[in-house]
Amino acid sequence: MSLMYKSTRDSNNTATASEAILQGLATDGGLYVPEKLPKLSVSLEELTKLSYKEIAYEVMKLFLDDFTEDELKNCINKAYDSKFDTENICELKKVGDVFYLELFHGATIAFKDMALSILPHLLTTSAKKNKIEDKIVILTATSGDTGKAAMAGFADVPGTEIIVFYPKGGVSKVQEKQMLTQTGANTHVVGITGNFDDAQTGVKVMFNNEALKEELKAKGYRFSSANSINIGRLVPQVVYYVYSYVNLLKNNEIKAGDKVNFVVPTGNFGNILAAFYAKNLGIPVNKLICASNENKVLFDFFNTGVYDRNRQFILTTSPSMDILISSNLERLIYMIAGEDSDKNKGLMEALKTEGKYEIDDSMKALLSDFIGGFASEDQVAEEIKNVFTDDNYVMDTHTAVASRVYHDYKANTKDETVSVIASTASPYKFATSVMGAIDDKYKGVEDFALIAELNKVSGVKIPKAVDGLETAPVLHNTVCETADMEKTVKRILDII
Ligand SMILES: *Cc1c(COP(=O)(O)O)cnc(C)c1O
Repeated sequence: MSLMYKSTRDSNNTATASEAILQGLATDGGLYVPEKLPKLSVSLEELTKLSYKEIAYEVMKLFLDDFTEDELKNCINKAYDSKFDTENICELKKVGDVFYLELFHGATIAFKDMALSILPHLLTTSAKKNKIEDKIVILTATSGDTGKAAMAGFADVPGTEIIVFYPKGGVSKVQEKQMLTQTGANTHVVGITGNFDDAQTGVKVMFNNEALKEELKAKGYRFSSANSINIGRLVPQVVYYVYSYVNLLKNNEIKAGDKVNFVVPTGNFGNILAAFYAKNLGIPVNKLICASNENKVLFDFFNTGVYDRNRQFILTTSPSMDILISSNLERLIYMIAGEDSDKNKGLMEALKTEGKYEIDDSMKALLSDFIGGFASEDQVAEEIKNVFTDDNYVMDTHTAVASRVYHDYKANTKDETVSVIASTASPYKFATSVMGAIDDKYKGVEDFALIAELNKVSGVKIPKAVDGLETAPVLHNTVCETADMEKTVKRILDII
């Protein structure tokens, strides 16, 4: 029996896993979701004997069941290799009263590597399976981390071009430099004058532009996506939640069946949705704690049932979470709407036209797995300093949002459940904010000038990703108005 995917805006619009990966977004503008969320077919005890890659196979085969064993194992082996600086691929560290699941040991030192190192292989395998001859153009909007991780994954992959749009002025120095120095003849980076939501909306509009798609087809191109709207991004992210639970079990921190909390610093709602899918697989979960920065649209949603993006967009020290339209929430909305695609579509249309929607009580009642929290900029800085002072552990600003939300949650609820915080970026990626939080004397000093100092303070080896980055040659310099994104794509593909 093959697991089909269906669109959140038209339940009759179905695709196999490989077709859904190829398309990225469904043609009706919806997102693909599994018709039925799968369950693990092996026991948690059995999983304790497996490596990260072996667990990845056990999890991903359930979601991507039109891939053969060889195809999937081949993708996994190519993805999770020495690009990661730890054989475990990710690390679970106990610090004080909580566990940090470090997901930043890949090539670009953010958690996006966990999925984007495998997505190119899933995509090219999917193209082969479906006998697609067109060149695949990956269109991606990034709030800073996806862009670099996607380009690193797709650089010089035959049969692909990748175009990344990022908010010029809305990312950290290190993030920007990482993107602008990307090698590979098929990689293209474009700064836009708008913010991340503008970039993401612009990309979605191109995906849904039939005339543009026809023009591309005539030239032998087709679009796909490396954003977490692509299920090929989401599925690999389920793996590390399973891995972390299994790791706790193996180290006798919990007994089989004990519940854990997952605390996730959230922007586009992809990472926390993966945790929700892990719960549905059979991982015992108490609460999924959704942590926002000052762009706290999700905190308000979980507390009131109203999703309202009509508010000021705030540039924070956790730029990868500066998002007011959390795309992947649509997958959850569809589920709690009883998989009623018309109901979901109505809400998404209200979001588009009025910038907000409200869910009804029956839907609200189905959100009890989730807790929303947020941290202000001052609280984030305080958290970095406190954890460093108490436990000598240096975390990045995104992780600190989640860490603060967790500590507040624990103080308020007295919930002693073993908790895992998704640690989504290396502090080296946000050195100015991190070091400025630790000591006033570093305030305002530029990212690159603080790298050696961060190494001294934290004792953590300087990652390859930033070593030598400051002096690396800049290879991209395209900037465009938000309104000119389509024109820019055509110019890059030479189809104007
Ligand atoms: C992308 C990103 C996030 C947000 O993840 P979502 O899946 O968009 O919710 C958090 N932290 C970092 C460092 C990121 O790069």
